[in-house]
Amino acid sequence: MLTIALGSEGYLMAQKREALSTYRSKRDFTKTPEPSGKTIKKRLSSRKKPIFVIQEHQASHLHYDVRLQIGDVLVSWAVPKGPSLNPRVKRLAVQTEDHPIDYADFEGIIKEGYGAGTVMVWDIGTYKNIKDESMQECLKQGQIEVELKGKKLEGAFAFVRTHYAGSKKNWLMIKMKDEFASAKKNPVSSQKRSALTDRTMKQIKDDKKSKVYE
Ligand code: MN
Repeated sequence: MLTIALGSEGYLMAQKREALSTYRSKRDFTKTPEPSGKTIKKRLSSRKKPIFVIQEHQASHLHYDVRLQIGDVLVSWAVPKGPSLNPRVKRLAVQTEDHPIDYADFEGIIKEGYGAGTVMVWDIGTYKNIKDESMQECLKQGQIEVELKGKKLEGAFAFVRTHYAGSKKNWLMIKMKDEFASAKKNPVSSQKRSALTDRTMKQIKDDKKSKVYE
């Protein structure tokens, strides 16, 4: 159905394999330290297992950008409250534009423009698709199940697309039941340092060595 396909920019872009054009159109790469995605760092793209990253992003509103490598891009969701380890908690995850793979280890300060604010790599690692269908197919169907192996998060998580208010951008991120599930642990509030540099958000913001573009 054409009308349905057009309602989902992310999905349509992925289908047309122009996934990064939205990403690029939102940014001025002479003004942001973010990668353009024109080149891909070999050490990120040559891994056997696909990567995932969760970036804490203090923009106008604090949120956590959860990204899964699918093919040669990072399919992305903004999760306002961040991931929960409690299988009874469903976290809203709003799909945003696909990001280049190089974005996975981006940490620093976006001084102005789209997404201006501090970005921290809160967690990074690899994942495994635990469904029979390919990740592309799961993305299309709006039913993703992956097993994460990060520095903070481990175990199975589901991403389920809802049809709330007719938008195909709204998903839920839900911890699946396994030995890593917990109703008590809350890593978003208990583990507040970068998985890459061990810095806090404030340290990244105040660090003279943080990548900053005027
Ligand atoms: Mn963000």
